[in-house]
Amino acid sequence: MTVPFALPPGQPLAILSALVDEQRGLIDLLGARQRHEHAGRNFWLGTLEGVPVVLTVSRIGKVAAATTATLLAERFGAGAMVFTGVAGGLGPGVRVGDVVVADAFLQHDLDVSPLFPRYEVPAYGRARFAVHPGLGQALAEAAQDALTAHWPGAQLHRGLVASGDRFVCGADESRHLQARLRHDGHEALAVEMEGAAVAQVCADHGLPFAAMRTISDRADDDAHQDFTHFVKTVASRYAELIVRRLLQRWQRAG
Ligand code: SAH
Repeated sequence: MTVPFALPPGQPLAILSALVDEQRGLIDLLGARQRHEHAGRNFWLGTLEGVPVVLTVSRIGKVAAATTATLLAERFGAGAMVFTGVAGGLGPGVRVGDVVVADAFLQHDLDVSPLFPRYEVPAYGRARFAVHPGLGQALAEAAQDALTAHWPGAQLHRGLVASGDRFVCGADESRHLQARLRHDGHEALAVEMEGAAVAQVCADHGLPFAAMRTISDRADDDAHQDFTHFVKTVASRYAELIVRRLLQRWQRAG
């Protein structure tokens, strides 16, 4: 049975995105809002649906994401982290407008072979970093509720998400990436640029982590066009509705 997630008392939930557009609506909804500037980033403290939260935008890529996640843990005392953003669809049937809630992350551009198996993070003895089962399940249920209510044509997927410092935007490149991962036994549903870094920082700090990615493109030759349009018009709306539902459930449960 999945262990239910409970936010540690007195610690905020960190809500993290890579791009301003991915969480635009959420900042406007914060109660008792305070802004702190640190390391060139804005950290917004406040309450959302009565739950203490800290919102921030990491910027793009694994280094920026790891720096931001570390600050959230060390400086802002986050009790758990949720990432909301967009990703390219890799798995068959993962379409633009669908949502992927991650079960685990891996860095698709980390390769210390032949010293270690490809993708394995040295010193950790593994390639994959799993999300917190209870928090992941709560996020998936909130996402399913929101999709059923607002976008009944969209599908929810759960599984592995691959992260790397590369915007994957070619049909050949995307097929190649998927085949390479598959060769080592990893079936990735989506590709993005931050999640595995946040998952590793959370593992270091013993913090529960979960992530949702709305599929903005198919990581193919049209990816750059689909992406720009999608993030502006759809992704922030998904993030707002799904995160609010997640927090409302805790309020009802508590
Ligand atoms: N146009 C943006 C840059 C986007 S980079 C700008 O000018 O700021 C892509 C972002 O969306 C990253 O944060 C990444 O996590 C996610 N993403 C969406 N589709 C992706 C894809 N096909 N490959 C890699 N990352 C993708």
